[in-house]
Amino acid sequence: MEEALSDQIAKLKEILDTSKRTVFFGGAGTSTESGIPDFRSGDGVFQAIKQFGYEPEVLISHDFFLHHTETFFEYYKKFLLFPDAEPNDAHRALARLEQRGTLTAVITQNIDNLHQKAGSKNVLELHGSVYRNYCMRCHKSYSLAEILTQSGVPKCGCGGTIKPDVVLYGEGLDERIIGESVRQISRADTLIIGGTSLVVYPAAGLADYFNGDNLVVINMSRTSRDSGATLAISAPIGEVLKAAVP
Ligand code: ZN
Repeated sequence: MEEALSDQIAKLKEILDTSKRTVFFGGAGTSTESGIPDFRSGDGVFQAIKQFGYEPEVLISHDFFLHHTETFFEYYKKFLLFPDAEPNDAHRALARLEQRGTLTAVITQNIDNLHQKAGSKNVLELHGSVYRNYCMRCHKSYSLAEILTQSGVPKCGCGGTIKPDVVLYGEGLDERIIGESVRQISRADTLIIGGTSLVVYPAAGLADYFNGDNLVVINMSRTSRDSGATLAISAPIGEVLKAAVP
């Protein structure tokens, strides 16, 4: 029989109160309570196919960006940009934990900047950020606001196309971010995996570097890591972390 949620949260609180080096590794589920849907699942896939005729993985691939730049940005602005989204209880709890000095890093698959907006300082963005953009020709940087003011394909003053600093399908992850993520996970005594079903490789393989005491999984559905976890909680992540990190 599964433990009651309140017992699981009490156990998590005890783990977080005694851990010295907690690392959080999160995915799309961390941001759903902020109103950002997972474009890779369910309705996101359905809408992409219905409105654009392709699956999300095709629409935000490197090849598609190069050959159908206008359609790429049409989809990107509609489905991946949420400039008005605000951090939720999960983001805020993780920022509090960092302020206590016991959380050393947030590693995220999300590109929405919400951890930073909540106050987290050490955020490792495996898939980049929609808030950073650069000209492909002269490398000048552009903010998200500057991208949003331009209709169609955003262009630099030099005539070059502006590309979001987001890792597209078919592109490699930043080696420096991967290296730092491995370092953080391998030195952690507690690893919280939250809001991700851990199916996106190579990011998902990062959890293999953990050899600390407490592996905690918080996700709405079951994940492949549940069986090896100290604690596996199936509940909204904001509710869980808010209660565990008051
Ligand atoms: Zn330029």
